[in-house]
Amino acid sequence: MSQIARDKVVQIHYTLTLNDGGVIDSSEGQDPLAYLHGHQNIIPGLEEALEGKAVGDALKVSIPPEKGYGERNPQLVQIVPSNAFQGVDNLEVGMIFQAPTEDGSVQMIRIVKLEGENVTIDGNHELAGQTLNFDVKIDAVRDPSPEELTHGHVHGPGGHQH
Ligand code: ZN
Repeated sequence: MSQIARDKVVQIHYTLTLNDGGVIDSSEGQDPLAYLHGHQNIIPGLEEALEGKAVGDALKVSIPPEKGYGERNPQLVQIVPSNAFQGVDNLEVGMIFQAPTEDGSVQMIRIVKLEGENVTIDGNHELAGQTLNFDVKIDAVRDPSPEELTHGHVHGPGGHQH
């Protein structure tokens, strides 16, 4: 019986709900999600909960924001002028843009409000500040290929397609 441990390829079926009961995401009717355990492919709280589990195990786990997508950071909400979005014809609430950050990485920002020339953007993850309730069933556990280990993620169905 292979158990979930560092460097194992794990396939799970899952349903994610928030505390208000709303279903945010689910693998139902699709390929299971495949990830490489111990490589931060999934949020820390879920990875911790899955450690040591085996194929066929099912679990329900409630993950606080600090082990999920973090607390909301009010400083990531900013108002910018609409001319900062040159080349975009129709700005709409819900649009997502990639913005470069000072450290050279890329941040996803969402438009959350439009008021005249003022555009309110939010760089928080949509699920920041939320408790995440996962209903998980472990579908498969296997050893990674050397290539998967080098890349730090899973290839094939449910993983990276490249
Ligand atoms: Zn790869």
